[in-house]
Amino acid sequence: MHLSSRVIGIPDSITMKLNERAIALAEEGKVIYNLSGGQLPIKPLPEFVEKIHHQLNFLKSYQYCPSAGFPGLRKKLLKHFYETRELAAELLETSFDCILSNGSKHSIYEALGAVIDPGDEVILLAPFWVSYPEMIKFWGGIPAVVKSNVFDAFVPAIDDIRKIMSPRTKCIIINSPNNPSGVHYSEAWMKEFAAFLKDYPNLVVISDEVYSEISYFDPKPSYFYQYDHSLINQTIIIRAISKTLASTGLRLGWTIAPKTVVDAMSRIQGQTTSGPNSLIQRALMDFDLSHIDSFLVPVRNHIRSNAATLREKFREGNLGHCWYQSTSAFYFLIDFSRTPMFGRFDNVEGDDHSYKIADELLHQEGIAVVPGHDFGMPNTARISLVIEEIPFQEAITKIIRYLHKVS
Ligand code: PMP
Repeated sequence: MHLSSRVIGIPDSITMKLNERAIALAEEGKVIYNLSGGQLPIKPLPEFVEKIHHQLNFLKSYQYCPSAGFPGLRKKLLKHFYETRELAAELLETSFDCILSNGSKHSIYEALGAVIDPGDEVILLAPFWVSYPEMIKFWGGIPAVVKSNVFDAFVPAIDDIRKIMSPRTKCIIINSPNNPSGVHYSEAWMKEFAAFLKDYPNLVVISDEVYSEISYFDPKPSYFYQYDHSLINQTIIIRAISKTLASTGLRLGWTIAPKTVVDAMSRIQGQTTSGPNSLIQRALMDFDLSHIDSFLVPVRNHIRSNAATLREKFREGNLGHCWYQSTSAFYFLIDFSRTPMFGRFDNVEGDDHSYKIADELLHQEGIAVVPGHDFGMPNTARISLVIEEIPFQEAITKIIRYLHKVS
């Protein structure tokens, strides 16, 4: 059967592929440190699990919901958003709405579908989450990438965003806290971004905030629209339970956006998935969202401790120049290009060796990482900070040893 030209170019998810290879090696008896995970390896809050149990008794929990989700939950999430971001209720209650989808990946996909015409450019700030470019291309859009580097802790400069703007630019995606760098953009950055947006009132901003509650270094993440409330009108916000409630498999995400956008997304959703998971929505409706914060306290402590291990090991290994302070989410991006091991590779601008390096790390050291190429960062790899402290320390010791291997 001939496949469509639209799907032929879609690559496999590299994270999934690596995970499979790491599992296969572990099954052969090799000791594998799997640092490729993009999820918390813990169960959600017992109170939330209890709410799911409770819903099992109701017929409605198994039936279709309205295509944008249950109205009560949509209202609750909209209210939770403006209260936690300290925005005035009047600003959002009349002109904004919330739509739930099957995970926030699905929310982003529909949001892009609602605003992009073929040929429109969408600005991505590298490093970016791997799925953005493919989703943009699926709707006929063109990714335009702004770069950053380890010296700036992978935070792109606003001037570079300004330089890449063109008459075809429709949208920009920002993701703070960021996957894969594990940093959130500072208040100063957000203020400068707000000032930049004043010059571009038609630029749509998709603000992917799925990690916003996972930060372990003050000041906490803040957002440009908190510094100039009028900017909310050009913003689409993405949230989820995947990361903050350790529930990636339950597939529930949501979008807060101007009503016209939510209506358009609801039409896409109504003709594709019909609507999001009823059972989990009804459990979330009953759940006190303020409990997420205390649930995350030990998670933040754990990630902060592993981040401190990184700092110590990089310093001890004389690789301080390749280290930056991660602050949020649960990732860190290793830049190989400034380490001794990179002498074995061509250092030609634009060439990427991150797949080869990830393969060597897996086969020589038993460490599974995610190559940075698909995050828009050649010659880097993402590691995850969620594994237990002792195996994490062992894994980082092995990585530092590998970074010094010159033959
Ligand atoms: N945005 C970012 C930045 C992510 O890292 C992820 C998951 N890795 C998602 C969105 C999608 O998460 P989900 O579909 O599980 O809600």
